[in-house]
Amino acid sequence: MERINNPGVPNMPVALNMGLFDIRTLPGRNKGSEALRDIPKGTLVLAEEALFSIPNVHDPLTQDDETEIRAQATIHRTEFDKLYCHGRPTKAQAPLKRFVANSYQMDGDAEGPSRRGIFLKASQLNHSCVPNAYFDFNEKFGPQGHLTVYAIHDIRLGQEIVINYRQGDCYKTRPERKQILKDAYEFTCTCRACEPNTPFGRGSEGRRIEMATLETRIKDNKNSYGPREQDQRRQDIQKLIDLLEEEGLLNPQLAKNYRRLAKYWNEKWLQTGTGATDFRRGFSEKAMEAARKGLDLELTCFGSSSCRVTQTLKWLCGLECK
Ligand SMILES: [Zn+2]
Repeated sequence: MERINNPGVPNMPVALNMGLFDIRTLPGRNKGSEALRDIPKGTLVLAEEALFSIPNVHDPLTQDDETEIRAQATIHRTEFDKLYCHGRPTKAQAPLKRFVANSYQMDGDAEGPSRRGIFLKASQLNHSCVPNAYFDFNEKFGPQGHLTVYAIHDIRLGQEIVINYRQGDCYKTRPERKQILKDAYEFTCTCRACEPNTPFGRGSEGRRIEMATLETRIKDNKNSYGPREQDQRRQDIQKLIDLLEEEGLLNPQLAKNYRRLAKYWNEKWLQTGTGATDFRRGFSEKAMEAARKGLDLELTCFGSSSCRVTQTLKWLCGLECK
């Protein structure tokens, strides 16, 4: 592992990039991260401690948030002022804009106060709506917790490593994403999903629209227990899985849909009489296959030490049909 920051400087956050990428000026673009070798899917690309973090940040920022951000920005100004800040903000507004544009959510799990933090290396990674890497805050990684970035696709030598700044927005259409990115970061995304005149781009928009419809219907049918509604729900989940995979979104939303599918087959197993051994075995196998695929995805996105993976393992052990 390579220490990027000088370990001799007190209070500097530790960043480990495993020597897998370098920040370079990319042809026709701003700076971005370039893979220095082939990086297989599931590889930890970056693990980094926060320069500083602020608890319970609101959107929009409150007076208290602003006071706290300004105080931290002053303490860490040597590093913080080098971070990207769009537009031409006033001196008073610059720390706030810079914080909003560069900070990452740091919730390792649902418990504990919400925090947002500044991570110097991770801030240099560019955005794509079809990313090849996934970031998460892992509070179990080192004494302070680290922001981790894992490769979710195989990344080739020379390829840019990109993350999705809005990881929860994968069911949004191109115009919706465009607006969100413009409002939050003031840039226009040119990733292959945002390119309207290519076969992938044209297909992508149709897929995202259909994904949003399916997600709504799956949620709406959650408490419908009729056999026909349940079968429709299974078909919707399977279709959503197929679309996410076709779009290249190998992310926790895909894992969530595999878990939904596992729950469906577990329920079928529970509803089937113990005499129907072959049916029960078939349902059990389908449930476990879906659960394992979901777990594999989470291991790829979060790493094995993440408490999100621990929670999923607990859930998997609790499946009655295992
Ligand atoms: Zn895009």
